[in-house]
Amino acid sequence: MFLNRVNFKIALTFTLFTTLVSIILFSALSFLLTNYYKTEDYRQLNVRLATMEGQYKLSGINAITSVDVGEMIQYGKPYFIRVTKDKFQLALGPLEWQRIFDYELLNGKKNGELTKLSSSEVDYQLDVLTHILDDGSILQTGISDQHRTQVLSSLNRVFIILLIPLVIISLIFGVFYSSNTLKPVSDLTETIKGIIKTGKKRPDIRKYNNKNELSELIILFNTLFNKNENLIKGMKETLDNVSHDLRTPLTRIRGISEIALTNSNPEQWQEALSDIIEDIDIIIRILNALLDITAAESGVLKLKIKEFNLKTLLEKSIDLYNFIAEEKEISISLDYKIDREIVNADEEKIRQVVANLLDNAVKYTENGGNVTVTAEQTESDWVIHINDSGIGISQDEVGNIWRRLYRSTKSRTEPGLGLGLSMVQAIINSHGGKVEVKSELGEGSTFTTTLPFQISNIEET
Ligand code: ADP
Repeated sequence: MFLNRVNFKIALTFTLFTTLVSIILFSALSFLLTNYYKTEDYRQLNVRLATMEGQYKLSGINAITSVDVGEMIQYGKPYFIRVTKDKFQLALGPLEWQRIFDYELLNGKKNGELTKLSSSEVDYQLDVLTHILDDGSILQTGISDQHRTQVLSSLNRVFIILLIPLVIISLIFGVFYSSNTLKPVSDLTETIKGIIKTGKKRPDIRKYNNKNELSELIILFNTLFNKNENLIKGMKETLDNVSHDLRTPLTRIRGISEIALTNSNPEQWQEALSDIIEDIDIIIRILNALLDITAAESGVLKLKIKEFNLKTLLEKSIDLYNFIAEEKEISISLDYKIDREIVNADEEKIRQVVANLLDNAVKYTENGGNVTVTAEQTESDWVIHINDSGIGISQDEVGNIWRRLYRSTKSRTEPGLGLGLSMVQAIINSHGGKVEVKSELGEGSTFTTTLPFQISNIEET
């Protein structure tokens, strides 16, 4: 179980890698040292042979016999010498070596040959170099490789002693480092498990501030999760609202039909049928508006972008609502400040937007109030403000008014479906523009739509 965990596998790989690198480095060091010692020993043998040759040529065999065996140490290492000429043989050196090594094996060696002399009694060998003089005398000298092998085996021991803590430290460091790095992933896994098990909606992942790929993954997961949650919530609310809003006219249709069935008066049938048609119209309006909003939001709505006279459109819309406004003694005025009258957009959709906003402005303004429509421009956009002195919207509710079928508590006395502003927003967004509201309860509201003069990336039909 533990061995299967990713962080342990990473730590193990890291440890294996560290160990392998250490072994390779140590082998290289050991190889270089061995070579260095061998070359050094060979050089020392050559120096000795050259000295021996000089003395031998000068004083003959006496030069060799006069050597004090106790002083036969060079560079801190004991050595032996051997002279052979015809049947004559003389070997001087540590007495122990004379006993355990068979010098006879050195006979017949070639000039310059490096020979290894071994014995079953000891675990070291003698390196012997042979030099043959012109008169046939053979000079040989040898030293033991004990020092060299001792140094190298101590080095091996030190390496093995160091390797054990190195492996342990690498493993601990690897587990710690990989666990730390993979913490976001394990947190995410735990959270997902929790969500699956308990159905808990909020992922309980603490905030990851340091920016790396893994913490970014958590942040993205959180965002995605919240978006999905909001989407599901929105869909549930819409479904609840649609069911609620459809139930009212449908229940009414049922009631009217039941009464009509028990009644034999054709005049009352006629009245019932016209009431039913009215309710069916409401249902059709709700469904059509919902379909239009969905189409606009999902980008399926095809816009018929063409040039039209904005000033005329605003004037005609105001004329239309003046009828209702006059009943409430509300004045509607237009302040047109754009230096051109022709703009580019889907005329019918813009008419729908203006109509919805004007309808709300008049609907939610008390008798004797006023509504102002202002058209102005920025460098790249045309902007329409529809301002009213009406009931306004509370700060708690202002964020919700764009939601489908949402109606604020204060507006329930007025007729409406709660779909107008969703439609306005969907249409403006599909034109690449934006719609905003500024409102305070009891102080009136201003709805502002901003649309670009140049409409881009929109499929024209
Ligand atoms: P409806 O007007 O059919 O209820 P809308 O989508 O047009 O639906 O508006 C949603 C809600 O926003 C309204 O119910 C109302 O509470 C609020 N609202 C919209 N326009 C105004 C306005 N001009 N003044 C005050 N409240 C408004």
